[in-house]
Amino acid sequence: MPTVLLAAALLSAAAPAQARNDEGCPWCGREAAADHGPMPLLASDSAAFAAADPGSDWRFLETEHFRIASALGPSRLGAGDLERLGPDLERLRQRFPELPKRPRRLDPWLRLHWYGMRLEDFYRRFQDLLAVTDADFSERRGDGPFMGDGRYLGEREKFEVILHEDRGSHFLVTEAATGVRVTDSMRWHSRAPHKMVLSVPAVDSDLRRDRWLLPHLVHNLSHNLLAAYKHFSYDPPVWIDEGLAHAMEREIEPESWTREGEEGTYRERGRSRPWAEEARRLARRPDRPTLAALMRRHTIGELSPDEHVLCWSLARFLIEEQPAGLAAFLGGVKGQLDERGYPSGKDLPGLQRRLMREIWDWSPNDLDAAWQAWVAGGAD
Ligand SMILES: [Zn+2]
Ligand SMILES: [Zn+2]
Repeated sequence: MPTVLLAAALLSAAAPAQARNDEGCPWCGREAAADHGPMPLLASDSAAFAAADPGSDWRFLETEHFRIASALGPSRLGAGDLERLGPDLERLRQRFPELPKRPRRLDPWLRLHWYGMRLEDFYRRFQDLLAVTDADFSERRGDGPFMGDGRYLGEREKFEVILHEDRGSHFLVTEAATGVRVTDSMRWHSRAPHKMVLSVPAVDSDLRRDRWLLPHLVHNLSHNLLAAYKHFSYDPPVWIDEGLAHAMEREIEPESWTREGEEGTYRERGRSRPWAEEARRLARRPDRPTLAALMRRHTIGELSPDEHVLCWSLARFLIEEQPAGLAAFLGGVKGQLDERGYPSGKDLPGLQRRLMREIWDWSPNDLDAAWQAWVAGGAD
């Protein structure tokens, strides 16, 4: 009864256990083997997690900022994959010189190392957007500006990513964590210990392929990293949260479109048309949605397809044309404190208007007009 065991292990603090992959990673030498666990995971640890689900072949990897649990098998590499992954394979080969020049597949361990490498790339990218480094987040409190409460952008623990090969174990993980069985990818904030978690059932045909799974992870982790920034105390404004997630996803794979469902998230199976074109079309329309309208949205589920494009394009505008201002805006939006010095999500529309005025001397309508001029000027 693996599913029942998994639920029990997830709910208990610890369990004596043996991971299933006794042989360990064939690529890592002894000194690096610790990167594969045991390590803390969810409410317990990786060994208990694996032992509770003997039906899946769990492997674990701890990197500088992530803890990844993966039940994914090998992935075959066609000629197109080899071309696309060329630079990545070269980087992996520097670390694992035995890796052949044109491997026919990534075995499950190597695949896990690839995800670890690419998620760390994304972490650096996101820190650049925020204009922060690890040194900005210390365990100390009380001196300097408010930066949350922990080394991982303001959270105590590393970011956790759980990659399932069947939906059953994803059901159990989401149910144990939140009390609800969620069908699609789900992210949440754990309070004890403080950390952000992402659980993904990589079971639909596209998510079985690394080409589409990676941008889907990056979309979700963009939400989780922004949520974590200066500690997760309240939800950030929907337009910039979703805009950044689309922008980060599309930097990895321009056609990938992760669409949010009512509960958790899912990735629609179709691909989208190029959004730069859509944004130009939108900017010319007199009845188009505006930033002022986006600022009144409370959930991602309320956004129309046009509004998703607008969120993405506004984020691209700020990333490309106003990077320092964007970093200041995100820092201000995520770090509001009340009179007593506690994080507060009070009146976020008012806070955003004040920040736009301070940083750019813009109203939301001015920002909207600057975006429109940028798009009309042929931006992509
Ligand atoms: Zn390894
Ligand atoms: Zn999203």
